[in-house]
Amino acid sequence: MKRALFPGSFDPLTLGHYDIIKRGVTLFDEIIVAIGVNSDKKYMFTLGERKRFIEEAFADEPKIKVVTYKGLTVDFCKEIGVDFILRGLRNPADFEFEKAIAHTNRDLAPIETVFLLTSAQTSYIASSIVRDVIRNGGDYTKLVPSSVKVN
Ligand code: ADP
Repeated sequence: MKRALFPGSFDPLTLGHYDIIKRGVTLFDEIIVAIGVNSDKKYMFTLGERKRFIEEAFADEPKIKVVTYKGLTVDFCKEIGVDFILRGLRNPADFEFEKAIAHTNRDLAPIETVFLLTSAQTSYIASSIVRDVIRNGGDYTKLVPSSVKVN
């Protein structure tokens, strides 16, 4: 069974992430959306909220699991026996950043990183922009799945 880990902060899940996950499902038997827990980072949404947004968005999709993890992504992959990491690419900056991470990961473990190019309609969406829109009272609903709700 081919399984891929899709790691990230998902603060919050966006339509960009959603697109990559949906398309990843056509390539892999299982996609494990893994929310990385970094105690030094400040998040807008709690871990519970971020997890719930993803679980609700994919409630009808049995091939998608949501988990949380701490530490190195490759160590977590080894721990749960996953051979692939899935990442999305939006632009050249993403490419340079992801290239360095993928090379480092390959030095650390025999895990392949698979990249999917973002869809044209969601290429401009980033969680940081969504957070900015939310902070400033804008209509964030066009940028995220309907499971993402702000209290
Ligand atoms: P991180 O904290 O690692 O930046 P993110 O939650 O921002 O985590 O992103 C997780 C993954 O989703 C990354 O591979 C990132 O490139 C990808 N991603 C984020 N936004 C988009 C988008 N709009 N289209 C495609 N991929 C995206």
